[in-house]
Amino acid sequence: MTADDTMAGRLAQIQQRIREACERAGRAPGSVTLLPVSKTFGEDAIREAMGLGLTRFGENKTQEIRQKAAAFEGDGLQWVLIGHLQTNKAKDAARDAAEVQSLDRVELADALHRRLQNEGRTLDVLVQVKTSSEPSKFGMEPQEVSPFLRRIASEYPTLRVQGLMTLAVNSPDPNEVRACFRALRELRDGLVQENIPGVSLDRLSMGMSGDFELAIEEGSTEVRIGSAIFGARHYPDPQ
Ligand SMILES: *Cc1c(COP(=O)(O)O)cnc(C)c1O
Repeated sequence: MTADDTMAGRLAQIQQRIREACERAGRAPGSVTLLPVSKTFGEDAIREAMGLGLTRFGENKTQEIRQKAAAFEGDGLQWVLIGHLQTNKAKDAARDAAEVQSLDRVELADALHRRLQNEGRTLDVLVQVKTSSEPSKFGMEPQEVSPFLRRIASEYPTLRVQGLMTLAVNSPDPNEVRACFRALRELRDGLVQENIPGVSLDRLSMGMSGDFELAIEEGSTEVRIGSAIFGARHYPDPQ
């Protein structure tokens, strides 16, 4: 344990490493947003994080978002769904999530749109893309993304596409990890050329505690960091 093994110390270290990665990549330090991932951590941890100025949190279950949204109602926090979303949970996401980064199929877009219409609101979404061949990873195949974006643009106006999200392969080889991030950026660059109306592709959510520096070097605009800020998780993570 080092002297600054507190949430404040860990957060400061991550922010420093983000700045350094931006510098190495010749990018502006403000061009990468940190999304702290609070899944599995309780209200005390959220309160501590709030004290450090964090207001937007990544979660992977609608049920956990519901509990935390209720506990912190009126505190101005935003809950971002980053985990796989079952179609039958679309209602919960449409009510409680500020944003969904795991949109990966038409059936889910359809369910979210209907629920959002009922709620009378729009929802920022990122399309989750599969950039590795690991069977356990969710996400859309890269070649499916263009027709999917066109469909959202024409049929689901409550869904505001802001960009793409991916999880890299879980590999000790940084070249394999980097290739996933690069594939997402190149996919985005190609899609931008298509100029699909109403679709923004400015954001690339990629990079987690173990690989965010590679992601920043490959163009990430948002890193999702859990354990490096909150500590080790004590129960299994389905992703
Ligand atoms: C849990 C999770 C993260 C954060 O993982 P850490 O390794 O703890 O930083 C990022 N993205 C997704 C989709 C996750 O489920």
